[in-house]
Amino acid sequence: MSKPENLPPAAAIITAGGVGRRLGGPGPKQFLPLGGRPVLIRALDACLRADCLTAIVLTLPAEHLEAGAQMLARHGLAGRCRLTVGGATRQESVLAGLNALPAGIELVLVHDGARPLVDPELIRACLAAAGRDGAAIVAVPVKDTIKSVAEGRVAGTVDRRPLWRAQTPQAARLALLRQAYEAAAREGFRGTDESSLLERIGCPVAVVTGSEDNLKITVWEDMAMAEALLVAKEGKTPPPRIGHGYDAHRLVPGRALILGGVLIPHPTGLLGHSDADALTHALCDALLGALGLGDIGRHFPDTDPRYAGIDSLRLLAQVVELATARGWAVGNADLTVVAQRPKLAPFLAEMRARLAAVCQVAPEAINLKATTTEGMGFAGREEGIACHAVALLLPRERP
Ligand code: MG
Repeated sequence: MSKPENLPPAAAIITAGGVGRRLGGPGPKQFLPLGGRPVLIRALDACLRADCLTAIVLTLPAEHLEAGAQMLARHGLAGRCRLTVGGATRQESVLAGLNALPAGIELVLVHDGARPLVDPELIRACLAAAGRDGAAIVAVPVKDTIKSVAEGRVAGTVDRRPLWRAQTPQAARLALLRQAYEAAAREGFRGTDESSLLERIGCPVAVVTGSEDNLKITVWEDMAMAEALLVAKEGKTPPPRIGHGYDAHRLVPGRALILGGVLIPHPTGLLGHSDADALTHALCDALLGALGLGDIGRHFPDTDPRYAGIDSLRLLAQVVELATARGWAVGNADLTVVAQRPKLAPFLAEMRARLAAVCQVAPEAINLKATTTEGMGFAGREEGIACHAVALLLPRERP
């Protein structure tokens, strides 16, 4: 990585204003760990690694300033940037950052603290373009077909060719940025990025082609996506993940007994909203547990008519899909059915084969056991059947 030539003294402002309400966490989303390091630390680290910035100012809400300082210290970055209190909006935060810049800065780069995967090379390219042209932003061309929609109906298809999605970093000469912010303040204009303020004062803004990897963490799905990208980027294999599941259903007359997707002849069956396949449910819960995604009730609520009487193997298939989308594959699972009756031995092979097929593993990867409780407890009294599961997820091999 070579330094951009003839770059005037440059500084970065990293904004971390959002309280992250959409993520539902207690602190700002930028404090959440991503691959073992907070999102904000990763964004800051990228700026440091760009190795062409004289100063870095980090804006934080006043109530998180102390925690932010502690976080920097924990990661050995105390003293590598100035902390300052941001404003109520992103625009006010950047303004606070501008006011905290040291003397002698000529070029300013603004970056969202919620974009942790920015490539240092992109930071340098953006600064170089702003140094050359006065102002520059990082953006990516729109890939999807864009519709204009009115009242729930498509009103037309928009020509996407001139459309780009603006990201950060965005950089400009300090004098231009100050002028743009002053004009916006004077005229009560609120923009969602630096470029929109610069455009208003007639400043040309160059575009540097960014990367889809430079995503902004806004919702939980973004965290999962960022984690998957990070694994791919760093070529590291995350450690396997383990999960546990337990389920029990009541045995009643007039219901089919289904376990592991197999219909088992018996005078009573399990009661439930779905087909009440407690074994498959326990396995779903073990997989969701390993994924850190809660439990089956959260994903397939028993108040939802879509799941009435549903074949639970279809729920398991959806759970496996969730795992796949997050870069995980089922390693193995060990399952125990606790039932006084019927004798399950004749059905175990078929149950195992069905569960393995849905989990996309060889039957040997699914171990199935059945036990009685020698007449003790609800299972022993044949009031119900209980199932236990542990499952291991392994990182999927990348194609
Ligand atoms: Mg259940």
